[in-house]
Amino acid sequence: MSKQDQQMVINRVLECFQEASVQLNRSFKHPIVSFKQRGKIAGSARLQVNELRFNPILLSDNLQTFLDEVVPHEVCHLIAFNLFGKVRPHGKEWKSLMKKLFNLNGQTYHKMDVKKVAGKQFVYHCNCGPIQLSIRRHNKVKRGEQKYTCRKCLTNLKFVSKE
Ligand SMILES: [Zn+2]
Ligand SMILES: [Zn+2]
Repeated sequence: MSKQDQQMVINRVLECFQEASVQLNRSFKHPIVSFKQRGKIAGSARLQVNELRFNPILLSDNLQTFLDEVVPHEVCHLIAFNLFGKVRPHGKEWKSLMKKLFNLNGQTYHKMDVKKVAGKQFVYHCNCGPIQLSIRRHNKVKRGEQKYTCRKCLTNLKFVSKE
């Protein structure tokens, strides 16, 4: 993620807040913007601390999607919290703000490629076939802290390969 991408996202956040202020005729406290969202999540809104977090890895591959969808999506979470307090995250208040402010049909999940952020998977086997474990679980097995059993055939999972 370049400094330039980062600045574009920050500018877009401000632009979205500006839009909200004009349309709703009130001002909002601008949020802290950080780039430390991890995993497959594109972004998140931390309502209590007025912070937006964006995923730097997904961002660098999908800048336009972030500007068009992810930023308005997260901004609307903060606006909804400001206007209505604690409501369902993707409920009717949020949906109507997405439509009214940005003319977007709010989607709960993004469709970006998450291969890079999915984390390494480790292939194990039981009697029914292959099964994938995360690195966290794989390390527990390796250290002998944990054994995993297949729920169907009840055999212990055995490590086969890394994917
Ligand atoms: Zn959301
Ligand atoms: Zn099995």
